[in-house]
Amino acid sequence: MTVQDSREAAARAAHGASTAGQLRAQTLAHSAHNYDPLPVVICEADGAWVTDVEGRRYLDMLAAYSAINFGHRHPRLVAAALRQLERVTLVSRAFDHDQFGPFCAELAALAGLDMVLPMNTGAEAVETAIKTARKWGYEVKGVPADQAVIIAFEGNFHGRTTTIVSFSTDEDARASYGPYTPGFRLVPYGDLAALAAAFDDRVVGVLVEPIQGEAGVLVPPAGFLPGVRELCTARGALMMADEIQSGLGRTGDTFACDHENVVPDMYLLGKALGGGIVPVSAVVSRSDILRVFKPGQHGSTFGGNPLACAVGREVIAMLSTGEYQERSAKLGSHMHDRLASLPSDVVRQVRGRGLWAGLEFASLSGREVCKRLAERGVLAKDTHGSTIRLAPPLVISEDDLDWAIDQVEALVR
Ligand SMILES: *Cc1c(COP(=O)(O)O)cnc(C)c1O
Repeated sequence: MTVQDSREAAARAAHGASTAGQLRAQTLAHSAHNYDPLPVVICEADGAWVTDVEGRRYLDMLAAYSAINFGHRHPRLVAAALRQLERVTLVSRAFDHDQFGPFCAELAALAGLDMVLPMNTGAEAVETAIKTARKWGYEVKGVPADQAVIIAFEGNFHGRTTTIVSFSTDEDARASYGPYTPGFRLVPYGDLAALAAAFDDRVVGVLVEPIQGEAGVLVPPAGFLPGVRELCTARGALMMADEIQSGLGRTGDTFACDHENVVPDMYLLGKALGGGIVPVSAVVSRSDILRVFKPGQHGSTFGGNPLACAVGREVIAMLSTGEYQERSAKLGSHMHDRLASLPSDVVRQVRGRGLWAGLEFASLSGREVCKRLAERGVLAKDTHGSTIRLAPPLVISEDDLDWAIDQVEALVR
């Protein structure tokens, strides 16, 4: 049986074995309730579209929080994965393999840097960056043992590990998970004066989302990222740009930092790097920084596995021509032009860059908006309270994008 055959068999089984209602009941009964999905049970997907078990089609305007930047099952990515499935999928880092060096070299080149540390999930990339900054702080900068401080920003989202939620300002994400990891200092997002004031000789790094996604697609004031860069350089701290959601074409450039010509000391990548097929994440940095790691000091069984590297290499090859970034910029400005004319008494604010928008509603809840959009065949996701996020796959056609925006317009009228 090929992968395609077994996927179709699974889809048929889902059709035959259970109704949407039964499947949802099973999910509610047997999966922890750490999510509250919209009542849509997807069984197939292609490009920008997904199909549910009742045969209804929906336009995917979330794209798995940017993990599906290239659409569902992009033929180039599926082909790369299938080729690798026939060769070798996992060796662990105990041995080298023929996809590993090329993946690291090509990813470093895409970022204009020279060294990569691959992991699997975004949170692991963030954890890796935190470890890198601390180790660099003690061994290179000379910070006294256990005194390192990392500055992060209010409203951040960097993942779900115990250490990462320790510096979250979202009480849902953080409450009841203490004792919390010390060593983090929070300042208001976009506030350079507050950032400057938070610096002292113990600060080893600044962890920043170039655009805050979960917070509602918050774009910082122009000059903020260059200011972070300057402060980090002046004070001898590492600038860590969490581009897990904002990177790899989402904002109309390879990285959101590119819009302000900022090169951080570390790019934290994930989501789209795995092409929507496998989890792939990485810290992309420089050899003078990542050389703090010696054998045995950090790692992951699955990090940099052959399948992940093969898919990741295809993602990098697709991004290296610039066509997806251009598409995102062009369709993104079209989307933002149209969204800007929504009635401001209903949609209080529209934010974002490229094919990425946060719409803040005046009185409707984000959840309610997303429910109504789903009824109209558009899948989107609310963030905090009254905001929804639109982040379609970069492969979406202009007609489909216009249709989705038509549905938003119909809903606010
Ligand atoms: C999704 C996300 C993460 C965490 O990635 P996971 O793969 O879910 O662990 C970290 N940072 C940002 C900005 C993200 O959007």
